[in-house]
Amino acid sequence: MVQTMLAARLHGPGELRMDSIEIPLPKPDEVLIKVHRTGICGTDLHIVKGNFPAPNLPLTLGHEFSGTIVEVGSGVSSLAVGARVVADINIACGTCDFCRKGAKLFCPAVRQLGVHDAGALAEFIVAPAQNIYVLPESISLDSAAYVEPLACAIHGQDRIAIQTGETVLIIGGGPMGLAHAALAKLQGAAQIIVSEPDSHRREIAFQMGADITVDPINENLDAILKSKTNNIGPDVVIEAVGSIPTYEASVALVRRGGRILAYGAAPQDANMQLRPFDIYAKELTIVGSYAGTYDTWPRAINLIAAGRFNPSLIVDTIRPLSEAIAAITSLENDRSIVKIHIQIP
Ligand SMILES: [Zn+2]
Ligand SMILES: [Zn+2]
Repeated sequence: MVQTMLAARLHGPGELRMDSIEIPLPKPDEVLIKVHRTGICGTDLHIVKGNFPAPNLPLTLGHEFSGTIVEVGSGVSSLAVGARVVADINIACGTCDFCRKGAKLFCPAVRQLGVHDAGALAEFIVAPAQNIYVLPESISLDSAAYVEPLACAIHGQDRIAIQTGETVLIIGGGPMGLAHAALAKLQGAAQIIVSEPDSHRREIAFQMGADITVDPINENLDAILKSKTNNIGPDVVIEAVGSIPTYEASVALVRRGGRILAYGAAPQDANMQLRPFDIYAKELTIVGSYAGTYDTWPRAINLIAAGRFNPSLIVDTIRPLSEAIAAITSLENDRSIVKIHIQIP
């Protein structure tokens, strides 16, 4: 008898359905994972709205997850049923020029679980054994569902390389901006300023390590930055919103010789006003950060396991799988919730 499971699947732009589908079987060198928790992410909404390419429909969403191995495919010898795990969602060919350079995110054939291949807003997911990280005892499956976004934030931090004593402006106090505040603190930033219109998110920003928070709607962000930096502006700006006005503000606000981390995912076809003269005369460094893979995963696990990063400060809402679709669509206009995790019994 075929066994079925529930899965939140995208059938076309804006067309999300809770489907009953066959439980997948692990192919050779794959494992089947019983999903414990899956994070709902802004990227999910981008995919649903068609702002982010999702070539293989119908697609089970969900790329931030933890779970337990319930079956191993043939050829898998290093992993056992019952292991508590997370999976690096990035699957690449392993042989192209980028893969051989250790840059598998740029592999022309790269696939991400929950973006290109079936994700974890479902009761079960299959993943390649080589992408699996077995969790240490000291990290709960609840917290482990935050490993993927934290790995992404760590990659961004690697790219921008905050120096001890620098002033960092983070634009956006969503789940990723908040993670960047905590990581900037761990890097030894002297001042961490978070710009965020929502007061609840500003409160959490303090708990995550922000020294100053600014409501950019009702306060003068530029003037506050100047007053805190001897009139020169922040050394580093992390754009963690993905909107054009905040990207343009990043260029205007960063100090001369400063660095900008382009972290927020803007719509694929959006354009911003950028004067090349500003890049030239301010000697700007603008770096992008797309996703976390390779060693950012075990580093994220280590940070959470050691208690240096506490996802439960960010994850403020837990919902059942039956509410996954409502959870994704709520991202559009409900800013009262910071981060939803879907718990699968
Ligand atoms: Zn995500
Ligand atoms: Zn490749």
